[in-house]
Amino acid sequence: FSTAPAAAAATAEEPIQPAVEVKHTQLLINGNFVDAASGKTFPTLDPRTGEVIARVAEGDSEDIDRAARVAEGDSVDIDHRERCRMLLRFADLIERHAEEIAALETWDNGKTLAQAAGAEVPMVARCIRYYAGWADKIHSLVAPADGAHHVQVLHEPVGVAGQIIPWNFPLLMFAWKVGPALACGNTVVLKTAEQTPLSALYVANLLHEAGLPEGVLNVVSGFGPTAGAALCSHMGVDKLAFTGSTGTGQTVLELAARSNLKPVTLELGGKSPFVVMDDADVDQAVELAHHAVFFNQGQCCCAGSRTFVHERVYDEFVEKSKARALKRVVGDPFRSGVEQGPQIDGEQFNKILRYVQSGVDSGATLVTGGDRVGNRGFYIQPTVFADAKDEMKIAREEIFGPVQTILKFRAATRVLYFLACGSGMEEVIRRANAMHYGLAAGVFTQSLDAANTLSRALRAGTVWVNCYDVFDATIPFGDYKMSGIGREKGIYTIRNYLQTKAVVTPIKDPAWL
Ligand code: NAD
Repeated sequence: FSTAPAAAAATAEEPIQPAVEVKHTQLLINGNFVDAASGKTFPTLDPRTGEVIARVAEGDSEDIDRAARVAEGDSVDIDHRERCRMLLRFADLIERHAEEIAALETWDNGKTLAQAAGAEVPMVARCIRYYAGWADKIHSLVAPADGAHHVQVLHEPVGVAGQIIPWNFPLLMFAWKVGPALACGNTVVLKTAEQTPLSALYVANLLHEAGLPEGVLNVVSGFGPTAGAALCSHMGVDKLAFTGSTGTGQTVLELAARSNLKPVTLELGGKSPFVVMDDADVDQAVELAHHAVFFNQGQCCCAGSRTFVHERVYDEFVEKSKARALKRVVGDPFRSGVEQGPQIDGEQFNKILRYVQSGVDSGATLVTGGDRVGNRGFYIQPTVFADAKDEMKIAREEIFGPVQTILKFRAATRVLYFLACGSGMEEVIRRANAMHYGLAAGVFTQSLDAANTLSRALRAGTVWVNCYDVFDATIPFGDYKMSGIGREKGIYTIRNYLQTKAVVTPIKDPAWL
């Protein structure tokens, strides 16, 4: 195994003290920070060391019930212009407190401060502003009907939105969920992931500072089988939005169906293909494929974790991917220049190392990495496997860690597939699609024909061509197959948070007069 010397050195040093204080650790219900009804708390850990950052109130079904009742009662009546202004003020406050928010996110999650401060917090503010813009643009329509009746089609808030978010992008997932729900006039009960409760509590407090009435947003920290399941089953919750693993998504759907048939949107797991054609500039392809897998410590639902490389450039690609992985700077995520921090916790850390072992056992070539970095916290070496086969576990299951799996494919070369009857890309299309997930895909090529053919043939909610991980509040994000149900962002989320009501009145005197 080879480790970049910089990585070992960085993790041996004392962790940098974050420049933020943990202010909020209780549940936010009805505008107040309160203890859990049970009085219980749980620790949230620093992934750099495994040490406790703070103890957080542990909500369960009783707290979910309290929050849902408050949300039901508060209902929807904030004027749409005020909703818009309030969300704009919230975005301003996020920017004003950006440094503290980013530090909190890095501390609780382990992602680099450069990423949290430079990309995610600004993206969160943009997302909230985008939804602020929707708040005063949701209006009713008039249906043409039969000439005798006037038909208004009203778009009303669904009511109480239950939202459950994961730990990999705690703040961004908060924004994707809370932004549209509030813009559409709903109330919210949000359950944070048990690994990362801190940033949501911090920004929820800012929302109140921005003028959100008490009880409209309630945040309950707690565990999935207790607080999460109670939210899914609650009869007073009118809609569920869930982001997390596919297995949990199935449970969420079942609980929703068995209770009050509340509509559910699901953003789940993935095992996304990244296809490198033979006309690619190999250096650029290596860099982008590397970013597609290793971004956020590999903890991305849309990670391009199956790297399919054309046989003609395969050997060069593998060699250069190894060199790039070896150069990746692993270390304290608060340190500048660091590209990769620790994994979220011991459970994920061990799971990833088990996947690495399974890759070795099944005969894939471990090109580099495969071990931990340092001797504390949850750091893992950037790992590259080559010569993987589609049926191997490392090529089929979501590893959710810094592990690249490179697979070789054959296709007609560029000149030949112009002449061929088919696209020449049938093999890679078939193999890329032979997967129960369908969240995202990447294509790297200089050929417009290959880009068009692949982006239409790949069964995924997003296809990035010659780019990867490009996100914006306006771009719909979601899933084919078992990666989920529905879309988030853009106008697509707006539809998730509105009910449609037809109000029919006669144009003239009713017939019975
Ligand atoms: P997870 O499913 O274990 O947990 C996600 C959330 O669900 C947490 O808040 C958890 O407490 C809650 N939960 C767990 N059990 C529950 C239950 N029985 N009832 C209700 N809620 C329950 O997933 P995770 O490990 O935290 O997150 C990683 C997964 O999330 C990966 O599979 C990843 O691909 C996926 N993810 C998807 C997207 C997307 O947009 N598609 C985005 C981020 C993460």
